[in-house]
Amino acid sequence: MTVVTAANLGLVSLGAPATPADPARRSRAELSSLAAEGAALLADAPAEEIARWAASTFGERFCVTSSMADAVVAHLFSRVAPGVDVVFLDTGLHFPETLKIRDTVARTMNVNVRSIRPRMTVGQQDGEFGPRLFARNPDECCFLRKVEPLERALADYDSWATGLRRDESPTRANTPVVAFDAKKGKVKVNPIAAWTQSDVDRYIARWNVPVNELFKKGYGSIGCWPCTRRTKAGEDPRAGRWAMFEKTECGLHI
Ligand code: SF4
Repeated sequence: MTVVTAANLGLVSLGAPATPADPARRSRAELSSLAAEGAALLADAPAEEIARWAASTFGERFCVTSSMADAVVAHLFSRVAPGVDVVFLDTGLHFPETLKIRDTVARTMNVNVRSIRPRMTVGQQDGEFGPRLFARNPDECCFLRKVEPLERALADYDSWATGLRRDESPTRANTPVVAFDAKKGKVKVNPIAAWTQSDVDRYIARWNVPVNELFKKGYGSIGCWPCTRRTKAGEDPRAGRWAMFEKTECGLHI
């Protein structure tokens, strides 16, 4: 069996270089300093203000990432930074309902949706690593289908936004609104980190934001179909992710 490493996927390093090759780009030290400024300035700021700061500070070197479970963060940025890039990791193993949200966002919002695919199709991965890698080694599968594609997509940017929220799970309870991600060498922005599920529901109702139909069918959190099950009453919303394993995160946020 092939062992997956950054090197054999053609990635020399998953972190940004200490000094960027392009002099027009900000250095790691500059980005770290900007993140510290943003964190101090925006700790208790409304999501719109955080989003505005990120878009104006990083300009074309900024993108939004979305799992398309809902389109709240994509919508938020479409209001404050029309035309912003929205990166979606198209693993090839998403529910049709999720792809429908992706297509609705691309069609109806003023954003530029970029679907990023893994280097291998699911069939090629089955040939290389054996079928159903997700059931045997989900970390390896997530690396191939999510982590490496995100690293590749983020190479163009100095900063990215996510829809992480503190109330989603204990592992996300300390999510900051702005932080320097030392591993990636980029500034990570979480404009709705402080929002509760009620805040999300209010935003969706106010702006009529598209929501994945699977939420109405009992799913608390939505990822690839092989690794997502419905949640039961009282369960943590992310309890339905990788339920057969101790795994709680795909590796995108650790
Ligand atoms: Fe593979 Fe499951 Fe991770 Fe999707 S969530 S990349 S199917 S292990």
